[in-house]
Amino acid sequence: MPDIIQLLPDSVANQIAAGEVVQRPASAVKELMENALDAGSTSIKLIVKDAGKTLIQVIDNGCGMSETDARMSFERHATSKIRKADDLFMIRTMGFRGEALASIAAIAQVEMRTKRVGDDVGVNIDIEGSEIKKQEACFCPEGTSFSIKNLFYNVPARRNFLKSDSVELRHIIEEFERVAIPNPSIAFSFHHNTTEIFHLERGTLKQRLVAIFGKSYDTRLIPVEENTGIVKIKGFVIKPEFAKKTRGEQFFFLNKRFIKNSYLHHAVQSAFSELLAKESFASYFLMLEVDPKTIDVNIHPTKTEVKFEDEKAIYAFLRSAVKKSLGQFNITPSIDFDQEAYLFNIPIKPADGIIRQPQITVDPNFNPFKVEYTPKEKPTEREIFNRNNWEKMYNATTHLEFQQQVQKEDTQEIKPEQQTINSTWDNDVNESASKLSYQLHNKYILSNIKNGLMVIDQQGAHERVLYEQLLEKIENHKSSTQQELFPKTIELNANDFEMVKELQHELESIGFDIRELGKSTFVIHGVPADTVNFDSVQLLEGLLENYKQNLQELKTNKQENLARSMARNMAVKSGKSLTQEEMNNLVDELFACEMPYHTPLGKPTISIISLDELNERFDKH
Ligand code: ADP
Ligand code: MG
Repeated sequence: MPDIIQLLPDSVANQIAAGEVVQRPASAVKELMENALDAGSTSIKLIVKDAGKTLIQVIDNGCGMSETDARMSFERHATSKIRKADDLFMIRTMGFRGEALASIAAIAQVEMRTKRVGDDVGVNIDIEGSEIKKQEACFCPEGTSFSIKNLFYNVPARRNFLKSDSVELRHIIEEFERVAIPNPSIAFSFHHNTTEIFHLERGTLKQRLVAIFGKSYDTRLIPVEENTGIVKIKGFVIKPEFAKKTRGEQFFFLNKRFIKNSYLHHAVQSAFSELLAKESFASYFLMLEVDPKTIDVNIHPTKTEVKFEDEKAIYAFLRSAVKKSLGQFNITPSIDFDQEAYLFNIPIKPADGIIRQPQITVDPNFNPFKVEYTPKEKPTEREIFNRNNWEKMYNATTHLEFQQQVQKEDTQEIKPEQQTINSTWDNDVNESASKLSYQLHNKYILSNIKNGLMVIDQQGAHERVLYEQLLEKIENHKSSTQQELFPKTIELNANDFEMVKELQHELESIGFDIRELGKSTFVIHGVPADTVNFDSVQLLEGLLENYKQNLQELKTNKQENLARSMARNMAVKSGKSLTQEEMNNLVDELFACEMPYHTPLGKPTISIISLDELNERFDKH
């Protein structure tokens, strides 16, 4: 038998390596921008076409390369940043593996133009699928420009795997922000097709954050600073009242490199502890600086995971630094008589200066169990349907029985006349008694059913009702819009702005009328007709929040996600007191739903405590 093992040709080896380094256009953006940083640039321009699928260009004014270096830079493991294994423990540059350019050149058509400071001419190299196509002298500005065209042109499986332009663009924006935030002394710009998404002047970290996330951040940021022998911490946290439900704005930079670290996240989150509402996340932009000897950035090619030598100490310093800042800014609850008065919520003294006992008036005739019941002349179709379902529920012993009954009847054809006869809207006393509901802790609706007690979660039930109604409206184009008398504007960060642009059509289908104004603002001209009592900006912000959260957790289409998020935001919340009529309507509407038993997120809406169960508890058999 002949020997069969051979070394792979470089182009194949590079293509395999590329799979690890370049997963999508955003990875190429990251690598090129990091190279521009390492080259000592003070200005970096990013130009992207079709979310990076057609073109990614990075132009810097850094040190540039000689002709030989330019050629070498595309070789695998070719780097100017380390020379020996020991250097791995002194890394101050973003790159060091010497893999990025070789990988990118293996899977795209690359054009490089570079000139060193002081050289008369530069060099232009075109390389495609690891093969040099052109190398010649050229006139170009000092610094380097890389154009990456048709990424994955020779790896169709990868190319087909790419997501929609808006998704890929969001990934690019994310990488851009991760490079731009920790380098406020460098000017950046970012063009996508014909729009300039970012134009960032040189300035302070705070100015950079405001330029990226919007003017409102100016008053939301609390500075954090701490210098210890082990770690230097500098940056900002966001005031707790602006905490979000999605884990959107959590940025740690270690020696200016963006990192993910759940242990350190926990340190910050726990410093906020009781200041945050339930299920909210602290937002922060924190730069940590440590001696490169004490970390290992070499564990993953994308380098967002880092191993620390002294993680516990860093945790403790970080936590206390954030706590101190929150405290200094009068935010942590503490017994401090210098606190501003509003924190204590002191009631205002009456005009005559006399403080009296509070008076409570009680209506002795009030009977919480009495229902005002107005008979209607003719029930609507929906009422008939609701009422039928209500009866089935009332008579059913278990969920299963109810469901089976509904299913059985769904398959039988019920003639409309018969349906009306079965459920004439009479004013039967027992019937109205059975429809009596009681609200428990402003959270649950308790209702009598034949075999026990039905407990309904008011918020979950309402979410279900709204969700199905919204979906129906979207599908049948039945939404109506209430035009705003005074249109409001909503300012968004680049990522959210892209998301709203992507969702504009769907938002219109549920009744929003929003129009773009400039680079980061939308004007809300109209809102869904049934949301006129909501603050339109808050509603849209809440909607986006939920939408993003769902994106991370669920695999649904846009319309469904939007209906879910909208239902979530519009639903009556736990803690809201409901009138008898409101409760009855809600229960009726819930049973008119296709899937009354679960919230759109799959949590139960109804629970039944059977008479048997109660009898057992009271020892009555
Ligand atoms: P690494 O960054 O890990 O060294 P790369 O493949 O990204 O590996 O780049 C290889 C080499 O090419 C770098 O070490 C650097 O010397 C040179 N290089 C890449 N991009 C630039 C640039 N924008 N300006 C100057 N030199 C660059
Ligand atoms: Mg590099």
